[in-house]
Amino acid sequence: MNVNYLTDKIKKWGGTDENIKLIERAYEFAKKAHAGQKRLSGEPYIIHPLAVAENLADFTGDIPTLASALLHDVSEDTQYSINDIKKEFGDEIAFLVEGVTKLDKIKYKGTERAAENLRKMFLAVAEDIRVVLIKLIDRLHNMKTIQHMNPEKQKRIALETLEIYAPLSYRLGIGEIKGQLEDLSFPIVSPNEYDWLAKRLKDHFEERKKYVERLLPAVNRELKLEKINYVDVHARAKHSYSLYKKLLKFDMDLNKIFDLIAVRIIVPEIESCYAALGVIHKLWRPMPGLIKDYIALPKPNGYKSIHTTVFGPEGKMIEFQIRTSQMHEEAEKGIAAHWAYSEQKGTKNYAEKRPAFARKNDLQWVNQLREWQKDFDKPDEFLDALKIDFFKNRIFVLTPKGDVFDLPEGATPIDFAYAVHTDIGNTATGAKVNNKMVSLNHELHNGDIVEILTQKNKKPNADWLDFVKTAGARKKISSFLNRSREEMRFSGPSGQTVELKLSVRDRIGLLKDVTTVIARQKINMKSVLSETKNRLYPVIAIQAPIKNKKDLEKLMVKLKEIKGVEEVSYKFI
Ligand code: MN
Repeated sequence: MNVNYLTDKIKKWGGTDENIKLIERAYEFAKKAHAGQKRLSGEPYIIHPLAVAENLADFTGDIPTLASALLHDVSEDTQYSINDIKKEFGDEIAFLVEGVTKLDKIKYKGTERAAENLRKMFLAVAEDIRVVLIKLIDRLHNMKTIQHMNPEKQKRIALETLEIYAPLSYRLGIGEIKGQLEDLSFPIVSPNEYDWLAKRLKDHFEERKKYVERLLPAVNRELKLEKINYVDVHARAKHSYSLYKKLLKFDMDLNKIFDLIAVRIIVPEIESCYAALGVIHKLWRPMPGLIKDYIALPKPNGYKSIHTTVFGPEGKMIEFQIRTSQMHEEAEKGIAAHWAYSEQKGTKNYAEKRPAFARKNDLQWVNQLREWQKDFDKPDEFLDALKIDFFKNRIFVLTPKGDVFDLPEGATPIDFAYAVHTDIGNTATGAKVNNKMVSLNHELHNGDIVEILTQKNKKPNADWLDFVKTAGARKKISSFLNRSREEMRFSGPSGQTVELKLSVRDRIGLLKDVTTVIARQKINMKSVLSETKNRLYPVIAIQAPIKNKKDLEKLMVKLKEIKGVEEVSYKFI
């Protein structure tokens, strides 16, 4: 076991001696740090970070990313800290490793609603898209070796992969990772459904495969005949999980799935896509409604291709997918492909080819991500290079049970408490952040786990209004304080004198009914003033001492029930 596969690859890219040395140093450091540690399989631990870095090299040539992949578990599982990595490898690599470590803390515990928040939080905590990429490949390797875990943990990890990691890969446009993650999770999360599908598929799949093999030569021949340039024609089998999801929409009928095995035609440029489409439609009649031009109208995650389903030989339906080499690479590698293409043209020195993004127009996926935050204030500046700063003004914090709450930057435990529940806010006495006691005006950060300590009969403090950030908390504190201020007024020995004002439609006996209701409540009126004669808005005003808020509320309800009383208001005197 060694790092040669990786360094050879970097040499082939034209990497400098410095690049190679850095990777070798990172490898040696990780090997030393993990010395003696074993994977659950019994193999030396270093095989894991090495596999992650090697797999990552299929997606990116960014040297700090690859070095960080080698070091990604060091600060979590060994005696070495982020500071040690910083001293040895500098700020950038330390930042990436720390990001991966922070993501380890985010765990999926259940509901659908939480899943979406968790995906957002994942990106916000990562801060840098390279951190996300390392984490996705890390998860991919852990899924490939999941059989060594106990069944309960397998279930949790696989579900988390299906709910969080695979959708994130999809949104970042990395189809290859998404498909692999889903197919590795599927048999663990839904074993019965997987078995059902595997059994059904066995014969069907073989038959389809032979069918496509019979058809390929005709496609090749016709493309050549029409002098259409093409790079490759191949068959691609649908990933089992996405097939299963599609079957759910099509009565579980495999005969209705035309892309179980599709034919993919890769061409050098866009014009050839449409020319190739013409050839296919000349050979076989297309099925109306099933020609999809994702080149003219790409999917939200940036996917581009032309799909068409035709009545193929022997009257069977078959799907063709036509795309350029670049579209193909983007579909497989997503965001990572963008960053490969954006290397400055004409730069010969590999070290100078710093990853950067392509033109912002190309980054459909970013728009998709920005959709998530359309309720927030949109930052004027487009996110710069690899920074994930579109959640700039928001932070994501967790309850000890793992529920995610989305708060504005600068939010405090009191904001959090009111976001969870009004009663928790009202009765808060203290807070723990990541298991440490903090003051109630402590500033929360992304990924914090916040626990609120409460005490029955505790009341909100007016000082809280000086530091809370959310309008929700502010409103709830104010309304509680107003209410208790009123209650305070009743605390004197004879209660509080209240003036009740009734807007009425006058009628004979109304005043008597009103005074009767008041007397029945055992309230002694101090004065009654009836201004009902010849007035556009007749009013009855009553002054009376009232013992507490409850009595007042009860009285108001009773008064409102009287026929002719339109409205009741009160003020303290
Ligand atoms: Mn790992």
